Amino acid sequence: MRYSALSILGQALSGNRGWKPVWREPQPKPHYDVIIVGGGGHGLSTAYYLAKEFGIKNIAVLEKGYIGSGNVGRNTTIVRSNYLLEGNIPFYEFSLKLWEGLEADLNYNAMVSQRGVMMLAHSDGQRDAFARRGNAMRMHGVDAELLDREDLQKMMPYLNYDHARFPIKAGLLQKRGGTARHDAVAWGYARGADSHGVDIIQHCEVTAIRRDEKGGVTGVETSKGFIGCNKLALATAGHSSETARMADLRLPIETHVLQAFVSEGIKPVIDNVIVYGGGHFYISQSDKGGLVFGADIDYYSSYAQRGNLAIVESTMEEGVSLIPGLSRLRVLRSWGGVMDMSMDGSPIIDRTPIENLYLNAGWCYGGFKATPASGFCFAHLIAKNEPHHVARALRLDRFERGYAVDEAGKGPQPNIH
Ligand SMILES: Cc1cc2nc3c(=O)[nH]c(=O)nc-3n(C[C@H](O)[C@H](O)[C@H](O)COP(=O)(O)OP(=O)(O)OC[C@H]3O[C@@H](n4cnc5c(N)ncnc54)[C@H](O)[C@@H]3O)c2cc1C
Repeated sequence: MRYSALSILGQALSGNRGWKPVWREPQPKPHYDVIIVGGGGHGLSTAYYLAKEFGIKNIAVLEKGYIGSGNVGRNTTIVRSNYLLEGNIPFYEFSLKLWEGLEADLNYNAMVSQRGVMMLAHSDGQRDAFARRGNAMRMHGVDAELLDREDLQKMMPYLNYDHARFPIKAGLLQKRGGTARHDAVAWGYARGADSHGVDIIQHCEVTAIRRDEKGGVTGVETSKGFIGCNKLALATAGHSSETARMADLRLPIETHVLQAFVSEGIKPVIDNVIVYGGGHFYISQSDKGGLVFGADIDYYSSYAQRGNLAIVESTMEEGVSLIPGLSRLRVLRSWGGVMDMSMDGSPIIDRTPIENLYLNAGWCYGGFKATPASGFCFAHLIAKNEPHHVARALRLDRFERGYAVDEAGKGPQPNIH
């Protein structure tokens, strides 16, 4: 069913009884050309682009939970391409361009809102670093504006400009950055992939990877039985180490928890995304009025989708020091997600040393914005066995070769990401 103003009107007039499920619930076939493990944003977008752009139709996405139960439905919804490094800027800009046309492409309202992402600088050194980052972005054709304190005061009068330790000195604005409704992104890609014939199989956990005598992958053992494939693609985000281990592959990744929070709904006050450079706090306002915010990871490895109180406290402290008025609000909900923290803070989209096994991992706490490009580039790799040109730096062997993509502010150790 194609969505349009007319179809909504038609449904309204007939009591909304004609809506159909947006994807099928198929039983797994014995064999697929490509199996994608993980029905998060990246797995679903990979399936969608494989089918739509690269003509491979016999595809299954195996998801151990339900669609949207992983990080794709748990993030703080920020999309941007304001990176510094050569290996990252073209990739994330490609992603932002895909976001800009995504809803028309998917015929699905993902509430993509280019409301601007503002990163605040709190010292002269940080302002210089942002000027450098903005220049790097502009050299790649990406929009960036360095604003001074007076500009910021006009735009965001409610911030604490004279904090004794972290006074606000400047801001780097990317106007084309913003937010997208995270679970609609998962549903939109699932619907799009399904419409191209992809089998999305929920509640189907991959428990082992079967290989032939030469070591090549031939299929997966799952909670619904064995399913064969020509190519196996792992897109399991926070569980990447676990699924790779099933093929005896050890990854340069640790899994950590990141929490997010949403306040009670209030009238519109924050009309962009704000990132606090004095700490690691970020905030935006949802269309329902809740303030959505988060800060650091929990600093210990865990597969539990929940965090601890120390980070709750430090997140609130950072938030209130930046926006004193926050102290008047009540937190409505908080949750956690498990993230695949790579050793340089950048992702991996690559073939593996194991025949027919492809890897998409290492998204840390920034993989939501990458969802379209990650899927497109992973699909390109799976279909052609060649990396897409914007993902050439994101290779698995970069750690061995000493070509880490060590984006500023992240660092080589998970505890300083
Ligand atoms: C609190 C929080 C805030 C964040 N904020 C942002 C943000 O503002 N902007 C941004 O860009 N990024 C953000 N991120 C990061 C972003 O959400 C992730 O990097 C991205 O969603 C990961 O890719 P995914 O969507 O494919 O992951 P997921 O949705 O986690 O998908 C992986 C799927 O694999 C499945 N799976 C795992 N093992 C198996 C198995 N054995 N068999 C079958 N299925 C399996 C899981 O159930 C899961 O559904 C945030 C993350 C969190 C937790």
